[in-house]
Amino acid sequence: MKLSGRTAIVTGAASGIGKAIAELYAREGAKVIVSDINEEAINQVVEGIKEEGGQAAGIVADVSKDEEIDAMVKLAVDEFGSLDILVNNAGILDNFMTVGEVSDQVWNQVIAVNLTGPFKISRAAIKIMEGQENGGVIINNASIGGLFGSRGGAAYVSSKHGLIGLTKNIAATYGIHGKIRANVIAPGAVRTNISSSITAEASKMGQKALAGAGAAPLGESEQLAQAALFLASDDSSFVNGDVMVVDGGWTSV
Ligand code: NAD
Repeated sequence: MKLSGRTAIVTGAASGIGKAIAELYAREGAKVIVSDINEEAINQVVEGIKEEGGQAAGIVADVSKDEEIDAMVKLAVDEFGSLDILVNNAGILDNFMTVGEVSDQVWNQVIAVNLTGPFKISRAAIKIMEGQENGGVIINNASIGGLFGSRGGAAYVSSKHGLIGLTKNIAATYGIHGKIRANVIAPGAVRTNISSSITAEASKMGQKALAGAGAAPLGESEQLAQAALFLASDDSSFVNGDVMVVDGGWTSV
């Protein structure tokens, strides 16, 4: 098992990519904090992990709320004694709104969940990881929208570009001479519940924005989880500050 004895926090772990990561990490021996805003779905994921013989604890934590971030990080240490892996996975879309259309409310919410949350959770986690003999690993789930302009609306694309910048800064300041590695997964199109937030109108806008990008191959959450396992394990011990594109080749054409 690749993650034996390690404690991992996975945010947005009640659905989609985060759920697949939490389940795979548990199968690989990690003790997993399953964190999300959807309590019922959290409980199902935790139960499923325990039924398979894994270790997990659930917590309702909105990544845009300071007290809930603190409680989540504290739970990892109180329940399992360390915090070795942080996966900032929770994220929301912005309905493909252009800069001329996006409201302050949508902009602020998308930045709060997709960028400020990961910053604050990383800050709290680093304080713990720095004091541990083996340091820790941070994995941020961005998007190919963090590398290109047309794979989301203005707020989403900005938040994911920012998340990649944050990751590289952590890698440079804590990883080169320290013991905390930070890397990004940049998924292409993955079959999850996130698309349920896209309205018909936004879908048309998305198609317009994506014109020329070609049809996206559709991946499964389990395929993304394998990338997150590589980046969490010692198999990637010299990988730091990387952006791993996992998009079935969509952005290679
Ligand atoms: P999903 O909607 O299936 O899962 C996201 C989870 O995050 C949900 O369980 C939701 O309850 C939770 N969440 C939402 N807001 C939250 C908050 N404020 N605090 C805590 N949890 C919150 O979506 P997914 O596709 O699995 O998305 C996971 C990540 O992958 C996101 O960051 C998303 O931007 C990224 N991503 C997804 C795709 C894709 O095609 N599915 C592509 C690129 C990037």
